[in-house]
Amino acid sequence: MAVDTPLRRLFDYLPPAMPEGAAEPKPGARVWVPFGRRRLVGMVMDVADRSDLPPERLKPILEVLDAAPALEASALELIRWAAEYYHHPVGQVLAAALPALLRRGAGVAATEERWALTGSGSDAAAAGEPRRAPRQRALLEFLLSRGGTAVAGDLAGHSPLWRDAARPLEQRGWLARAEVALVEAPEPAQVRAAGPTLLPEQRDAVERVAAASRAYAAFLLEGVTGSGKTEVYLRLTEEALARGRAVLVLVPEIGLTPQLVGRFRERFAAPLAVLHSALTDSERLAAWRAAWSGRARIVLGTRSAVFAPLQDLGLIVVDEEHDPSFKQHEGALRYSARDLAVVRARHASVPVLLGSATPSLETLHNVAASRYTRLRLLRRPGESRPPLLKLIDLRVSAIEAGISTPAVLAIERHLAAGAQVLIFLNRRGFAPTLLCTACGWIAPCRDCDARLTVHLAAARLRCHHCGADAPLPERCPQCGFAVKPVGQGTERIEAALGARFPGVSIVRLDRDVVRRRGDLDEVVRRMSSGEARILVGTQMVTKGHDFPNLTLVVVLNADQGLFSSDFRAPERLAQTIVQVAGRAGRGNKPGEVLIQTEFPQHPLLVSLLERGYDGFTDAALEERLQASWPPFSRLAALRASGKTREAALGFLTEARAAAGAPPRVLKLLGPVPAAMAKRAGRYHAQLLIESRERRVLHRFLDGWLPQVEALKSAQRARWALDVDPLELF
Ligand SMILES: [Zn+2]
Ligand SMILES: [Zn+2]
Repeated sequence: MAVDTPLRRLFDYLPPAMPEGAAEPKPGARVWVPFGRRRLVGMVMDVADRSDLPPERLKPILEVLDAAPALEASALELIRWAAEYYHHPVGQVLAAALPALLRRGAGVAATEERWALTGSGSDAAAAGEPRRAPRQRALLEFLLSRGGTAVAGDLAGHSPLWRDAARPLEQRGWLARAEVALVEAPEPAQVRAAGPTLLPEQRDAVERVAAASRAYAAFLLEGVTGSGKTEVYLRLTEEALARGRAVLVLVPEIGLTPQLVGRFRERFAAPLAVLHSALTDSERLAAWRAAWSGRARIVLGTRSAVFAPLQDLGLIVVDEEHDPSFKQHEGALRYSARDLAVVRARHASVPVLLGSATPSLETLHNVAASRYTRLRLLRRPGESRPPLLKLIDLRVSAIEAGISTPAVLAIERHLAAGAQVLIFLNRRGFAPTLLCTACGWIAPCRDCDARLTVHLAAARLRCHHCGADAPLPERCPQCGFAVKPVGQGTERIEAALGARFPGVSIVRLDRDVVRRRGDLDEVVRRMSSGEARILVGTQMVTKGHDFPNLTLVVVLNADQGLFSSDFRAPERLAQTIVQVAGRAGRGNKPGEVLIQTEFPQHPLLVSLLERGYDGFTDAALEERLQASWPPFSRLAALRASGKTREAALGFLTEARAAAGAPPRVLKLLGPVPAAMAKRAGRYHAQLLIESRERRVLHRFLDGWLPQVEALKSAQRARWALDVDPLELF
């Protein structure tokens, strides 16, 4: 039995008291069990004939919640696998996988409340009882007219106050209430509109995945933005549905990729279960139930949807597989939904398709090792030329307000040709720093090792790490001299372009804009209609919006990613540049991409410009191999935070000591304070565990973690183990 506790083990229980001949609860079924003094919802993981505990110490299950398992075998197997791989208590993995309401005992099948006349109730109704309570009498008569039974919804239609009448009748034994499972007939999935004719490469991809449909196989579908990956997903979904199978589609962020959901809705006349983090508990339960009952044959969702229940799973698609948001990097269970999707496909013996314009180095390594099959869509429909990338050397170009003269001239040229322009800068707000030029004071965050960002329009100073928010001062709090915003954020670039190109309509897309609901739609509408000519945006612009008239992209600052302490930063930078560049020159208009940098000779930029993303990944994989970083080694990070630096570091130092002499092919690195040690008032530090061999790493963690948990300092610090960490800080 898996129970939601921090203990790394399963628990044994006796079967519940059951009538003769009743079936025992099956694996995947939820049950109420006594746990200490509490009553908890647990899940049956296995049914065994015997226990290691003596029978007198075993307690019976109190109540079986699910007659049919809430999780089918492949989902259950996935939870077991995740608990082992991420070294996390299985009960807590389960808690992360199930909707909150199911963890509290809600029914897994949709139910309806039904009221029925009992035998004595029928007699009473026929005799016109109870004479002195007209409302109760009317309710009995209503039920009699309905053949003795009705659902709550119909009763509410009879009288809004029906519950007041029903309660005394139930007490007299004249009425009985029951929760009855709602029978949801699966609706046949139909193709609403036939898709366009496939290009040869798309057809080839569809055929190769479809040919593997009866067994596990992993595919990388690589294609630049606009190359038609979505059409391949749609055709394969159609193919799976035709075989009576269900399809799971994982996306990085649903709010930012509404197009994909829209494309599935347009194509299929079938219920779609959509699971993402913005749902309320009851919405999530409803979507989960639709997937569980098999009514929804297509389940589309973010990270946690990888655990969704699916009857007859036939295909898994992971769109934008390189996106870091597939990795849960906070909280206790830090899993990669992309990696779990591959594991689930293997357990369910179905193909998994990982799509990206800029595949992660891990995935490319799996291709090189022949674990994944690479399928490429090189051509864009109706257009053959990729955008032209050029560097602007900031050391020799005049620059004003963050925009170089060559960039300004290019913007003028494209606007004059009637086209649209995208200005990319991965920093929101007006300016990243507020400085006093007299005494050198810089507005700091009180709770983080970070500067406060100036938000001029809102007249606020904000911390982008902890959310601290303060009024924007006019004078230096230290010396009283006037203060000045330094550096560029999207808000400032928008203002500078407004001054440089008067009369040209400019829109901005960043997290500040998206926070206000409806504003994202407005930005997309103004760009799509051609009303807005310039778009200033952060990372957010890389998320699949199509603006066919956009022909120029300017990347204002490529240098942030070149010299980071995180070994994955160059990969992120290259992916961002390629994704942003993919916004230029859709349709039949050729695109131009300008990248501003102070390091035009940097090998990463050179390989990217000369040989594209392929050239970059070849060079980057070689670098990772030399440095023995993933995917050529395996990493785990023990992360800790505490109220003081000593609390965080002290715990990790003791944890390291507890490891004794580690195995030969395993290294412990640290502990070290995080690059930004203080965040939101807490100090962060980490200890890295690295090994070339996955098995060695996991065997080590198995033996070491119980010792770490037993440390006294483990109780004082907040800590978590992160297997395959994505960000090192
Ligand atoms: Zn000052
Ligand atoms: Zn802060």
